Amino acid sequence: MHPAIPRLLDLQTIDQHIAALRAELDAFPKRVRDADMQLTGARNAVTAAREAHTHSLTERKKFELDVRQWKERARKYREQSGAVKTNEAYKALQHEITNAEAEVAKAEDRQLEIMMAGEDSERRLKSAETALSQAERSIAAERKELHTQHAAKKKDLDAALAKREPAIAPIPEDLRVLYERIAKRHHGVALAEARDGQCRGCGMRVLPHILQQLLRDANDELFRCESCGLILYSLEPIPAPNPETGSSSAASSASSSS
Ligand SMILES: [Zn+2]
Repeated sequence: MHPAIPRLLDLQTIDQHIAALRAELDAFPKRVRDADMQLTGARNAVTAAREAHTHSLTERKKFELDVRQWKERARKYREQSGAVKTNEAYKALQHEITNAEAEVAKAEDRQLEIMMAGEDSERRLKSAETALSQAERSIAAERKELHTQHAAKKKDLDAALAKREPAIAPIPEDLRVLYERIAKRHHGVALAEARDGQCRGCGMRVLPHILQQLLRDANDELFRCESCGLILYSLEPIPAPNPETGSSSAASSASSSS
């Protein structure tokens, strides 16, 4: 195994941890927005319920006024009917009184309907207000929790970044550059294990003589997968297809050092 491989593997582990933490931290603003959206929904529901209730109160006042006005007219006609001279005029006033009283009855019916509807809209408003205050409490708790989680992740990230410095320091400059370049192209993955004769990065076959080289203790050469380009390493001895002829001595000695 190339002496830099364990260090590159450490670096890759740290970098993947850093990337995961950054992704989680990046997701926080959206999580806060999603929580706030729930609150907006509950607030809108209260606004709509309040408008409906106000409308129903306005309607109720209108019919109350109708009732008063028709009652007032009926009263006036009755007053006038005491002072009329002709039978015709008396009959006409009686007709007006009957009509006004019918209007009073109609307006009272509508007033009753609207009062019942008003009770409904008041109930709906109260329940929307209750839901809003519950949402406010739970969103406040959620925001606090998100804030705590965010602070913890930020701390983890700082710790991971602090570990990166000493991890990268002993790696030669040219290997750092190579590592960064490959990792950038493969979503943070620069190394792949060669196992069971395959590159675990892409599944393509790794030639036996390269597998042997990967396991040799004194190996200063880096091998990359011909197919995906990842830096290959091996942690296990290669199972020799035929133990009679296979030269497994190098493999078994390498396994103890890795
Ligand atoms: Zn590969």
